Amino acid sequence: MRVPFVDLQSQYLSIAPEIDAAIKEVATSGHYLQNLQIKKFENAFAAKLGLDHCVGLSNGTDALLLILKALGIKAGDEVLTPAFSWISSASVISLLGAKPVLVDVDPDYFTIDLKKAEALISPRTKALIAVHLFGQTGDLPQIKNFGDEHNLFFIEDCAQAHFSQFDGVLAGTLGQASAFSFYPTKNLGAMGDAGCAVSKDEELATRIRRLANHGGLTKNEHLTLGYNSRMDEIQAAILRVKLQHIEAWNEQRVANAKLYRHALANIEEIQLPHLRPKAQHTYHQFVIKVKERDQLKQYLEESGIATDIHYPLAIPFEPAYAFLNARRDDFPVAYQLQHEVLSLPIVPEVSQEQILYVCKTIQDFYRK
Ligand SMILES: *Cc1c(COP(=O)(O)O)cnc(C)c1O
Repeated sequence: MRVPFVDLQSQYLSIAPEIDAAIKEVATSGHYLQNLQIKKFENAFAAKLGLDHCVGLSNGTDALLLILKALGIKAGDEVLTPAFSWISSASVISLLGAKPVLVDVDPDYFTIDLKKAEALISPRTKALIAVHLFGQTGDLPQIKNFGDEHNLFFIEDCAQAHFSQFDGVLAGTLGQASAFSFYPTKNLGAMGDAGCAVSKDEELATRIRRLANHGGLTKNEHLTLGYNSRMDEIQAAILRVKLQHIEAWNEQRVANAKLYRHALANIEEIQLPHLRPKAQHTYHQFVIKVKERDQLKQYLEESGIATDIHYPLAIPFEPAYAFLNARRDDFPVAYQLQHEVLSLPIVPEVSQEQILYVCKTIQDFYRK
């Protein structure tokens, strides 16, 4: 049996008539940017989150960059962000000339460790980017309070947490602004790059919209310097179709996770993902921790099972951040995680039979 890690083709085929019609509608309309589709998607996405403002953008990284820029983050400022994540939440801070203050994470939940963050606050600290890694949020009210107490902007990186919740609060609705990615493999994915920023704050949303469109809302308006960072009409049309399926897909991920938990429960060498009390996980990734990670990964591969590592290097240990001279003792949890995490196939398209085969193969590995 073969088990792919993701299967975007099957996802497309399951809704092909809807997607084809959406693409054709855009193609025949002759409007490929800044028209009806983007407005409809922005409204639909904001409404599903219960927010008033969504700005469609070219990707999730730009969403983070433009949020920070719109909040006025600049050279000399410091921004707290987790040391163990995809690189974007740190790189955008650096690209604005500000300083990413990387904070070690919680070993069980993979989210920023607020106690360690507290110790790193300085008079220059202006903002905190929380990343809801792998589909599970941190304690949202606690993070928001932390931000309020220290007078920081609170930004949620929801690239891996579409419609995740904490205590009934949807990820992306508590921050000053939040970034979403619609990279093809995200829980809600476009057929190319796309992302968005959401906010309750109309003025902030307008600043982000201007920054994404050469500094203005209309073609020849340039009130500030800006970027070209818009979502295009075809991606917006595709995403609006897929938005109608996201609950079902997220539910399937949760069901897949249950199956893994049940079938792997008695392998003591494996640490299953911890569920944070009150959090509703959407399993962008199903990440186990194992000491003999590389051997297990290879064994699975030889058995036809694709897995992935999120992430093989924590941000402070990336070559791009070599100038930080980070030592493993500075980020003990992130350092350990980079050697122990293994992501198993969890996408909605993976069958029950395939998951049971993955679990049986893992059992075989430990009985060798
Ligand atoms: C994917 C991702 C991003 C970046 O999104 P892109 O659309 O690929 O630019 C940012 N943060 C996290 C946590 C991500 O997983």
